[in-house]
Amino acid sequence: MKAVQTYTVVSHLPEELAPLREVAMNLGWLSDERARDLFRRVDRDTWDHDGPDPVGMLLRLSQARLAELAADASFVAHATSVRDELVRSLDTPRWFQLHHEGQLRSVGYFAAEYGIAASLPQYSGGLGVLAGDHLRAANDLGLPLTAVGLFYHHGYFRQELDRYGWQQERFPRLHPATLALESVPDIRVTIDLAGASVQAVLWKAQVGRIPLYLLDTDVEGNSDADRLVTDRLYGGGVETRIRQEILLGIGGVRALSELGVTPDVFHINEGHAGFLALERIRRAIVDDGLTFDEAREAIRPAGLFTTHTPVPAGIDRFPRDLIERYFSTWCRECGLSLDELMQLGHEPGTPDGEVFNLAVMSLNLAGASNGVSLLHGGVSRRLFGGLWPSLPTDDVPIGAVTNGVHARTWTSRAMADLLDREIGSDWPEADPDRWRVFEDVPDRDVWAVRTANREHLVGFVRRRLRASLLTRGHTASEVSWCDSVLDPTVLTIGFARRFASYKRATLLLSDRDRLRRLLLDEARPVQFVIAGKAHPEDNVGKGILQEVVDFATELDVRHRVVFVPDYEINAGRVLYAGVDVWLNNPRRPLEACGTSGMKAAYNGVLNCSVLDGWWDELYQPEVGWAIPSAEWEEDDAHRDQLEAAELFKLLETQVVPLFYQRDADGLPTGWLAKVKACVARLGPEVESTRMLREYVERYYEPMALRSVHVRADGDARARQLVRWKRRVSVAWPEVAVTAVTEAGGAHELGDGLEVTATIDLGPLDPSDVEVQLLHGPVDLDDELRSVAATTMTHAGADDDSPRHRWVGSLVPGHAGEFGYTVRVTPAHEDLPHFAELGLVAFAPSH
Ligand SMILES: *Cc1c(COP(=O)(O)O)cnc(C)c1O
Repeated sequence: MKAVQTYTVVSHLPEELAPLREVAMNLGWLSDERARDLFRRVDRDTWDHDGPDPVGMLLRLSQARLAELAADASFVAHATSVRDELVRSLDTPRWFQLHHEGQLRSVGYFAAEYGIAASLPQYSGGLGVLAGDHLRAANDLGLPLTAVGLFYHHGYFRQELDRYGWQQERFPRLHPATLALESVPDIRVTIDLAGASVQAVLWKAQVGRIPLYLLDTDVEGNSDADRLVTDRLYGGGVETRIRQEILLGIGGVRALSELGVTPDVFHINEGHAGFLALERIRRAIVDDGLTFDEAREAIRPAGLFTTHTPVPAGIDRFPRDLIERYFSTWCRECGLSLDELMQLGHEPGTPDGEVFNLAVMSLNLAGASNGVSLLHGGVSRRLFGGLWPSLPTDDVPIGAVTNGVHARTWTSRAMADLLDREIGSDWPEADPDRWRVFEDVPDRDVWAVRTANREHLVGFVRRRLRASLLTRGHTASEVSWCDSVLDPTVLTIGFARRFASYKRATLLLSDRDRLRRLLLDEARPVQFVIAGKAHPEDNVGKGILQEVVDFATELDVRHRVVFVPDYEINAGRVLYAGVDVWLNNPRRPLEACGTSGMKAAYNGVLNCSVLDGWWDELYQPEVGWAIPSAEWEEDDAHRDQLEAAELFKLLETQVVPLFYQRDADGLPTGWLAKVKACVARLGPEVESTRMLREYVERYYEPMALRSVHVRADGDARARQLVRWKRRVSVAWPEVAVTAVTEAGGAHELGDGLEVTATIDLGPLDPSDVEVQLLHGPVDLDDELRSVAATTMTHAGADDDSPRHRWVGSLVPGHAGEFGYTVRVTPAHEDLPHFAELGLVAFAPSH
């Protein structure tokens, strides 16, 4: 029997406290120190010990305390002023209003999980927290963005350990009325799930000015099975998955229409939301009368796909029978056969028509795609290169936008105060020059912050550990040792991430004697704080976790190694602020970006990491350490052994000595120089507004422009593009570079070179192609490295001949071995990316 919620937050609150409720209902409070101070005043103990949860806290507050607050004029004034400030901030012009004049009016952002606050547990880890930061950044920039997701009634699990250190999952049921959610009356979304018509209602969360709508099928009138579609995040098997993803993609597009929101760009954040493209195609066919090919060209420019994982097992794949069951109506409406639909998700190199890969479909239907760090962009081009078999890997149309984190959310109070003082209160958006002043902050001020944060962490860990052991069945006297675990003066290394085997949480456990020597050194000890969840279905991950927990309970080291259960946003914030070193040792290049190390960096925590994800791009010796990785070693076990040895060496010879080298005042000056450089140099690079500005400038704006263009005049240009693509594809086999000649003979630095290419175009016109001169230094095999491209100019053809000449010139920029080649690609002003057709012709090499 289902519980019925009969009360809401507002009914309990005295009139005077209405502003308090308004502030609590907007999830922007997490990054607003004044709002946090306000809630701490309400009930300091609950706030500090149970973790921040304004709505939950107000709901559980005694009527007496509420009356007391309502009668406290200074408190009411504080609440009113925070509320007024919030209201003002909702329509103050920001970067987007002040600096942008373009086509973009609205972005629809779709993700399967959102990590906004621990009190709204609708996320499992990095992907969701990144989505949360995307919304916070959109708020800061004033970007008109509407987010869409699902409301999971059980959220993600709370982690507990049993007596044997084996992970237990608890899925507490969530009640929307006790969360920072409002129902959206009068709006119902209907979707078709294998022939059943399923209704969904919407819940709305607000992050500053950004609305997030969550679809929920647990409504009267749906069958029991359909009510359970939104029961759990990533719960159930593959069929639950496809049902959730249809609700998110197809239901999500319908929800936006019902709300009157018409995005210029649809951002598909990981394949889970990919089905939204099929709904957009269906509408273009059914409502606008286009053919499938035309509909595809019409919707494509407005679809951005971001891929988040280089681990093939992390990608959704569905068997044919599921696609048939759930999309036969769609096929009928769109006039497509099942085989044609299967082809859209066909993974090269696998049998035809058997498996539907959602990432492949998203790549096939997106106007642009990107990975989440420079390195991951390259890995994705290799991983998905098979979709464009004639293109060199470098030309595969998958770009990169490196993730960022929301600085105000993840920077500790103490550090934020110092940054306010040294850089100014707009430090999260300050440019690199202004950040540089942080390198000159007095050592003692920085050390005071580091010390306070470490002390706070130690207190937090002791409380959590104690509570965890009590739930594992230990008695109070058995757990008294918890009160003395960790030492607030000892070098503290943090490691918190999902327990997946490629993240290698047990790398240092491979040599326990050597690890013990590090931990137990008399003069220069080291301590570890470790956290993370294993996926509920992942017994290998749980085994790794158990190994860590076992080690952390061994009597001689248990005061130096602590596993903190239930890693979530609150625990993360304390860890990222309080440790000295943030350790990350994945098997490169399987970490797409990683963001926890960025959060640590804002707090002056030094990264010690394999050069994977973002660290590959932003590492410099002044700001942290790079763990050498032995990628050439194909045997994983041996590779792990080599990398563990490198990590030990780094810790023993560099990290530990630097931390304990003190000057006459007891300050670790060398360490602090690194801390200051870390904050000053990484600070301006890893903010989420930097990431979002890149999305706006490189993707959202140009895509909106192209989309408006292609859809104008009854989709005239979409129709034309289909005809043009067909003509070019048919003719392309005849296109060839037949000769390349040069004049000028650049042999001294500064000399120019004139290149003429003769190109056979077959039936195509010169305007159908672009010809480029690609040039740059070459390696020993004459492979071009770091290619620069110059567009060549059409210089005519002999009468009636399909042979045309193009000319171009270049000046080698460096002395040394140098080379060039000529590339011909299709070109059309409505073509989002030259590589989209996968057609290219190169000058023959000799
Ligand atoms: C930032 C964050 C993550 C992601 O960190 P990674 O470095 O990508 O592993 C996971 N969980 C929480 C709670 C976070 O705040």
